[in-house]
Amino acid sequence: MWQAEVRIDLDAIRGNVARLRAGTTAEVMAVVKADGYGHGLLPAARAALDGGATWLGVCTLDEALALRRGGITVPVLAWLLAPGLPLHEGVEAQVDLSAASLDQLRELVEAAEQAGRTARIHLKIDTGLSRGGATVTEWPELVEAAAKAQAEGSVEVVGVWSHLVYADQPDHPTIDQQVSAFHDALAVAGQAGLRPRYRHLANSAATLTRPDTHFDLVRPGVAVYGLSPIAGDTFGLRPAMTARARVMLVKRVPAGTGVSYGHTYHTQRETTLAVVPLGYADGVPRHASGVGPVRLAGRNRTIAGRVCMDQIVLDCGDDPVAAGDVATLFGSGEDGGPTADDWAAVVGTINYEIVTRFGSVRVPRVYDGIRT
Ligand SMILES: *Cc1c(COP(=O)(O)O)cnc(C)c1O
Repeated sequence: MWQAEVRIDLDAIRGNVARLRAGTTAEVMAVVKADGYGHGLLPAARAALDGGATWLGVCTLDEALALRRGGITVPVLAWLLAPGLPLHEGVEAQVDLSAASLDQLRELVEAAEQAGRTARIHLKIDTGLSRGGATVTEWPELVEAAAKAQAEGSVEVVGVWSHLVYADQPDHPTIDQQVSAFHDALAVAGQAGLRPRYRHLANSAATLTRPDTHFDLVRPGVAVYGLSPIAGDTFGLRPAMTARARVMLVKRVPAGTGVSYGHTYHTQRETTLAVVPLGYADGVPRHASGVGPVRLAGRNRTIAGRVCMDQIVLDCGDDPVAAGDVATLFGSGEDGGPTADDWAAVVGTINYEIVTRFGSVRVPRVYDGIRT
């Protein structure tokens, strides 16, 4: 018997990646950083590969090495590398690594020497996000140094890449500017003698709406998990995560009863309260106090009062609600229940954050659609 669970529909992930794949001539790098946006690194990665992804993208070296330990042999790119990491472990594991500065390139050259094999690298240009990536001013020196290191055999420049600012607004003028800056950066790399096999720029939103950003490889993340990067359009994606729990306790209380810490909610009339064993330690944002939607006994309800560390309370009126009934915080939405988008809207965040939060250790993740 289960108490609370995060259910992951792996067939949804497979279908979503197939949908993304069908919309582009580029290869698909499924982004599985942050434990697969809370869906589980290895199960999400395997399902994405089943769906037609040929690359995987992660942030950290540790995430990349975990994929290799899990037996995954497809190309993996890791792009968030602070100084001093054991990058040679990545080189030995044939993980592709990103470099955006001469210092990072130097570390990769050293890692290659230590590993005794060529490091596969992707050079990152900042085309406007002002986050990762070399500036346009730094770029010529970086590509020259990379071309030299490639000639010496210590690195292979597999990719040149960048990241978009405003892909969730497909008509935003910064997209054209970034595409143009990316072409310029590729031309500079070409003058240095670099002909990278993979040029990549697009995240989920650009993969779905801007073919001119696809180049050789697209890097969708949130869409892999069935969440839309652009509010108001599902793009035919299916949410893969459901968060739910079984009602722990029900009780009748009189009108005017204060509910949960601080009594920020009072019952209007005699009513049934249902206590659900999920709280902020499990990923429920505390900002969902008094606003978070939950489906129970065929109706969508709103959390009564404060979200606690481990519990929430629902006011169910005279509806027949019993201990053991299933309360769904969010899921596919196909039954009319709330979605991660609904939660994001009431909490003032994005669907990305909702699902990633629930990838916590306390709530067990259960998988549907495992292939053996
Ligand atoms: C997270 C991330 C992605 C995926 O973004 P989505 O909006 O989830 O598709 C792609 N590229 C980089 C560099 C990222 O950090």
